[in-house]
This record gives sequence, C-alpha cells and structure tokens, in this order.
Amino acid sequence: MIKAVRGFKDVLPEESIYWQFLEEKTKNLLKAFGFRELRIPVLEKLELFDRGIGSTTDIVEKEMYTFKDKGGELVAMRPEATASIARAYIEHALHLKDPLGKYFFIGPMFRYERPQAGRLRQFNQINIEVFGAKSPSLDAEIIALLHYISCDIGIEDGVTLEINHIGCKKCRPLYREILMNYLNLSKENLCDDCKRRLERNPLRILDCKKQNCKNISLNAPKIIDYLCEECKTYFDAVVDYLGVYKVPHIINPMIVRGLDYYTGIVFELITTELGAQGAVAAGGRYDHLVEELGGPRVAGIGFAIGEERAVEMIKKRKKLDLPSPFFFFALLGEEAKRRCIPIATDLRKSGIYTELEHEEKSLKSQMRKANKLKAKYAVIVGEDELRRGIAIVRDMKEKKQFEVSLKLESFLSLCQGGAE
Ligand SMILES: [Zn+2]
Ligand SMILES: [Zn+2]
Repeated sequence: MIKAVRGFKDVLPEESIYWQFLEEKTKNLLKAFGFRELRIPVLEKLELFDRGIGSTTDIVEKEMYTFKDKGGELVAMRPEATASIARAYIEHALHLKDPLGKYFFIGPMFRYERPQAGRLRQFNQINIEVFGAKSPSLDAEIIALLHYISCDIGIEDGVTLEINHIGCKKCRPLYREILMNYLNLSKENLCDDCKRRLERNPLRILDCKKQNCKNISLNAPKIIDYLCEECKTYFDAVVDYLGVYKVPHIINPMIVRGLDYYTGIVFELITTELGAQGAVAAGGRYDHLVEELGGPRVAGIGFAIGEERAVEMIKKRKKLDLPSPFFFFALLGEEAKRRCIPIATDLRKSGIYTELEHEEKSLKSQMRKANKLKAKYAVIVGEDELRRGIAIVRDMKEKKQFEVSLKLESFLSLCQGGAE
C-alpha cells in the first residue's frame, strides 16, 4: 500500500468542514475590508527567499524545499507567502494600478521540518498583505482585522494579541549593539543555534524556545527602551488607535519575529492551548522588502494565520457536521428512476442537497441508507406510486409519512422555510 509522504497530511471531509468554516468566515471579513485575492505559484526561484526572507534565518538556512529542476534552475517550494506576493507586486507593477494594494492568499507552504516532532512539511496559511501606505491607523486596522477574524471564528477567548516595535534602520543597529554586549556576557549558556546567531542576528535569540536562552533573554535590554523618537511616537500612535478599533492587546517586548524583512510594528496572536505556547498568527511591517527585491520604495504590512492551529482551536469550541441530504429518493424499478431523475436534478439545481439511489436495492436497504445519510425526507417511488402519480414522503426524524403528487412543485414546497 502506498502511503502519503511523511510530514504531508490528508484532510478528510469531517475535518475539512472546519477548514471551510475558517476560510469562509475569514474571506467574508477580508472582502468587507477591501482585500482581493492574489494567487501565487508554489515554486519560486531560490534567490527570492534568500534575498527576501534573509539568508541567516532558520527558514532559509535549514528548512527550505529546494532543488535543481531539469533545466538546472535552482528553485524552492514557497516556505511562506509574503516574499512571493511582493515579487508578484513588483513583476506586475501593481503599485501603478493599486495605490493601496490589499491582497490575500490562502494556500499551502512547505518547510523541511522534523515530522517526528509533529511538524508538518506542508502546512497552510491565510496571508494578508498591504502595500503602499504607512500610517499608525492603518497598522492598527490590520492588527484589528486579525482580532476581528479571531472573533468571527470564535477563538478570541483562547488568544492574546501581543505587539511590539522592533525599531527602524536608524535605531535598531544601536540596540543590536547593546543587546550583543549583554548576550556576550552569558555566551557560554546560550544554545548552539544562539551562539551562531550572536554575531549575525542577535535579535533572534530573544525568540529562542530553549529554556536557558529564555532565561537569559528575560533580563536583556528591551528594544522598546531604545527606540528613536520617530519610532516611539509611531508606536504610541498605533497603540492609541488600537483603542479606537477596540482591540484588546498587550505589549510584549520579546516579540522579534524570525524573518529579516520585518521592521517597525510586529505582532502575534498567541495561545497556550496547543501544547507549548505558540502563535496562531503573526505579522508586522516590512517597509523595505519591495525595494530590496528590486521594486519601488513601497511600505508594507501583513500577517499570516496558521490554518492548522486555527482549525484545532475551532474544533475545541465548535461541533460542525457534514451536510445531510434534504431528500433521498428511494426508487424501485427502472421507470421510477426515469421519472425521478429530472425532479431530483431540478432540486439540485435549486441548491437543495438531494441524493438518489442508482443501484437496484430493496426498499429496506435504501431506507437504511437514507437513515445513515441523515436525510430529512425519504421519497419513495415504486410501480404503484407511479400509477397513481404520487410519491410517498417519509419524514425520517418524525417517522411519519404522507403522499404528495409526483411533481417538482410538491418537493419545492416542502423545502420552503427549511431548505438546507
Ligand atoms: Zn527608529
Ligand atoms: Zn537558543
């Protein structure tokens, strides 16, 4: 038997209804906020992520699905969406078309993670990106959008929204220096990864999940105390607008985000429900990304929601059932089938979930099937009913039956007030 590749997962119908719920709720809200769907390809040139995400990040260093294609080109399966969406934005000169580009994308990302730790190598994200503006009220709006999504999918009681400001090109190098000096004092106690990070990317150490590193980070100087005047004013204004948008949040100076393109405001939607504390969603500003990828100087902000995590939280709170048929046509004989197929088809075209039996089965076995599918009505038609021009309709829940004339209108009127 051939099984799925390790780290890759099927989503069966009983579970995919939760995914549909998450995506539909989110899409509805995104449309109301003016977001448009921008679909990106799975494969990109490796260089895009090297330059976009940063060559010293964990993603690019160890987690990418990269290979040489048959033409010898080095390609990568997208490990995240922001760099790809920025690439598309530049390639199609969208800054000329959309003064404020608001895009979303839902789809799988790929990282070569360790499946034994329960990590998936194909996981799914809802990505939201805004290009072309920088303003505290916009930042607050995007953070608010994440909060509103968490409310619409009903998980807001299990998450906290945490925000931070990681400085700009002016003040971050200074802080980096101060942080590096502090961390150097405890260098021996850092994990191996963090020892390497110390020279290249010390801010990432604040993000390390190892207990030793966490303890050291706890007393580290906080970026928030070293922001330049401009950054500080901006951050205060965002916090102020979060009040206007009525978004509960806390300021967490430990949030730094793992990708190089972030600058300024960063935020995470944190939960403690899924084992270790983790982010269900995360994002921030990336004002230099488009320019660094060879595009115009255009500011950006966005976030990604981890769908697996969001779905897990929804499932803890909500029971969703697969849809069940409104009508199940239990048919006896060829003639009954020929008479009922057009009626069933018209019902389906009107959006009413209808099933009919294709095989020659006894009435008893067809009723068992209707029961198993949790049909609301079984419609029984055999030779006798055909002769009389009627159908027997059985209400499966009430266990009562009655006769209707064998025409579309009879069934449509049964649906009124209760079409599903
Ligand atoms: Zn600054
Ligand atoms: Zn560490």
